[in-house]
Order: sequence, then C-alpha cells, then structure tokens
Amino acid sequence: MILFIDCGDTLCDESTEVRLVPGGVVQKASLFPGAAETIERIHALGIPICLVADGLDASFQVILHGLTGCFDGWVTSEAVGAEKPSSLMFQTAMDVMGLSDADKPHILMVGNNVRKDIAGANRFGIISVLADYSPRYDMTPLTPDEVPQYILHDIRDLPELIRILE
Ligand SMILES: [Mg+2]
Repeated sequence: MILFIDCGDTLCDESTEVRLVPGGVVQKASLFPGAAETIERIHALGIPICLVADGLDASFQVILHGLTGCFDGWVTSEAVGAEKPSSLMFQTAMDVMGLSDADKPHILMVGNNVRKDIAGANRFGIISVLADYSPRYDMTPLTPDEVPQYILHDIRDLPELIRILE
C-alpha cells in the first residue's frame, strides 16, 4: 500500500493554526492526538507516504516539523499551482513517488474534505478514505463521487486500515 495524506484537519487541528496575517504562513499549529506517532509508525512499516495538501509549503514545514523525514513525497498546491480535487495534485504525487496507473488500486488518499480529498481521489481512481473527526467542514456527500470508500474515526486507526487493505 501507498499513503497519500492531507494535512489540515486530517493530521493537524486547523482550529489551532496561528498566522500573522490571514492567508499567511502558519506559525504554529497542533497535530491531533496520536497523529505524529501514527505517521512515524506507518513510515517504520516501510509504507511510502506522500503529503498531498492545499496550502503554502512553508506552513506544512512548520506544522509537520519533526515528521518531514517520514514523507517520501511532498506535494503542495503552492508548488503545483492547482488545488484538490484537481487531478494535477494527484498526478504530481504519482510522478514524485515514481508510481504508474498500475499502482492506483494500492494507493489510499486520506483527507477530511469530501469535495476536495474524496471527490479528487474517487475521480482519479485511487482509494478514498474520509477522516471524519474534525467538525469544520460539511462532510455530507452532494454527488456520488463525494462518497468515501472508507471512513476513519481516529487517525490512530490508520495502520489497522492499511493492514486490512493489504
Ligand atoms: Mg484538510
């Protein structure tokens, strides 16, 4: 299995983000309980991990400091010039990770946003996993492609989901 993962409200609690100006670089933010340990554990299992996140590269460097060595790929909308659900985000992650279409059945996209992460993953043909533990965005699917294939109620359950899918 290969893990593509979002950051805001998936690994990091967006309500804790501190910026000097609106839309600026995040200066400080807290990860959800167990998020850091979960990423470290998945990395230690030898499962490739790629960040696929909308935002500024510098923000994710701050938010995920200490964990950046766990990521084999690092794809941000700032660098790509497009945001999820654009296929460009997912295709860039594939390219960065050296993956081909044959790998798609083994790629999980984990994120909290049904319009971005889930619709994007479903349209791109990879496994969609909704992280449903943050209250910030409406998670009600409005179209069939916003329906997640799997739902994660706690980030700490991700290694077990990966194990089951293997
Ligand atoms: Mg998010």
